Amino acid sequence: MSALTKNYNRRKIAFKKGKGSFLYSTNGKKYLDFVQGIAVNSLGHSNPYLVREMQKQSKKVWHVSNAFLIPEGEKLASRLKRLTFADNVLFQNSGAEATEAAIKIARRYFYFKGKPNKNRILCIKNSFHGRTLATIYASGSKKMTEGFGPKVPGFDHIQFRDFKPRFPNLRNKIKNTTAAIMVETVMGEGGIKPIPNKCLKYLRKLCNKKKLLLILDEVQCGIGRSGKFFAFEHAGVKPDIVPIAKGIGGGFPIGAVLMTKKVASCMTAGTHGSTFGGNPMAMSIGNAVLDKITKKDFLKNVQRTSKYFFKNLDQIKRDHPNIIQEIRGMGLLIGIKLFNDQAKFIKELEKKRLLVIKAAENVVRILPPLNVKKSEIDLALKIIRQVCENKIKKK
Ligand SMILES: *Cc1c(COP(=O)(O)O)cnc(C)c1O
Repeated sequence: MSALTKNYNRRKIAFKKGKGSFLYSTNGKKYLDFVQGIAVNSLGHSNPYLVREMQKQSKKVWHVSNAFLIPEGEKLASRLKRLTFADNVLFQNSGAEATEAAIKIARRYFYFKGKPNKNRILCIKNSFHGRTLATIYASGSKKMTEGFGPKVPGFDHIQFRDFKPRFPNLRNKIKNTTAAIMVETVMGEGGIKPIPNKCLKYLRKLCNKKKLLLILDEVQCGIGRSGKFFAFEHAGVKPDIVPIAKGIGGGFPIGAVLMTKKVASCMTAGTHGSTFGGNPMAMSIGNAVLDKITKKDFLKNVQRTSKYFFKNLDQIKRDHPNIIQEIRGMGLLIGIKLFNDQAKFIKELEKKRLLVIKAAENVVRILPPLNVKKSEIDLALKIIRQVCENKIKKK
C-alpha cells in the first residue's frame, strides 16, 4: 500500500531514465514522451547541457537565502528584462506561487497608489492558475474549490465565450473595485484554448481605459512553448504582470513574476518573500535553459516544427472527421479535441508507447520538448493515425 496521499490519479508506469523525447520504464519499455512533465522539460529529459550546468553549480553553492545578494538571480532577471516587456522580476518556486504573487502585487499596487478598495481580480471561469487557496478561487472551478471553504473573496468571473466582439459581458463585470484582469494567454488545463489576438488587443485597450492592470498567466504557454518567447507576443500586446514557471526550469522547480517598473515600485522591502525562491541552484539552471532557448533560430525552429505537426494533424482530422473535432493550440502546445471522452484514446496511445495527457473538453494535450526532432513527430503522427484507424475498425 502506498504511503502517499491519494490526491492523484496516477498511471501505473514508473520510469528509470529519460533521454530527450524518450522515457524508459522500470519494466523495460521505451515511450515517446509528449507530456514532458506537463510542459516543464522544455529541452527534453536529461539534456546534456543542463546536466553539466547544474553539476557545475552544485559544486559551488546551492542555497544562501534572500538575505544576501544572489548574482545568478541578478543575471537571470536582467536577461528576462532584456528579452521581454518586463523591468523587474520576482522569483518563486512554482506556478501557483507565481500567480498568487501576481495577485498580491496587483492589490498592493493600488494600495500603494492610495486606492486600497481597488482590489478585485477579474478571471475566466474554469481557468487554471494553480492550487493555493487564492488561485483556486481565482479559477472559480467547482471541482477545485469544493470542500475548501470559506471562499477567498476578491475574484469575479467572466466566461471564455464572453471573448467575442464588443465584449458586453466583460465590460459589465468591471467595477470601481476591479484592480486587474487575469487570464491565461492560452488556456492550458482548460482545453488548449488561445485567447484570440483581437481579444487580447481589446483587453489591453480596455485595461488602459479603465486603469486596470493586465495579468497574463504564461505559466504553461510561456518560455517558447507558443513559438515566441511569450504567447502574447503573437498579438503584439504588452501586459503589466506575467507569472511564469513550468518551462523556465527545464525540470527544476522555478517560478517567477515579471512586471513593469510602474508596478514593481509597490513591492518595497518586506512586502513579499520566499525562502527558496531564486536560490543559486535554481537560477543557474534557469540561465542554462535561457542559453538554449535564446539561441539564434531556436524559436524559429519551434515555429517550423509546430507548423509541420499541425499540418499533419489536420490531415489526420480530415481523414477521421467522426473522431477528431478540432486541432487547436499554438506552437508546441497542441490539443486534439475529440467528439468522445479522450481517456480511452490516451490509453490506446499509451499502449503504442506514446505518452500524452488530457485537458478539459475531451482534449488530448500534446506537449513535446521544444527541441523535438522531426522523426519523433513522425512517430507520434503514425501512432495517432493508427489509434484513429483502429477505432474505426472496432465499429
Ligand atoms: C501549471 C499552471 C499553474 C500552476 O503551476 P504549479 O507549478 O503547478 O503550481 C498556473 N497557471 C497555469 C496557466 C498553469 O498551467
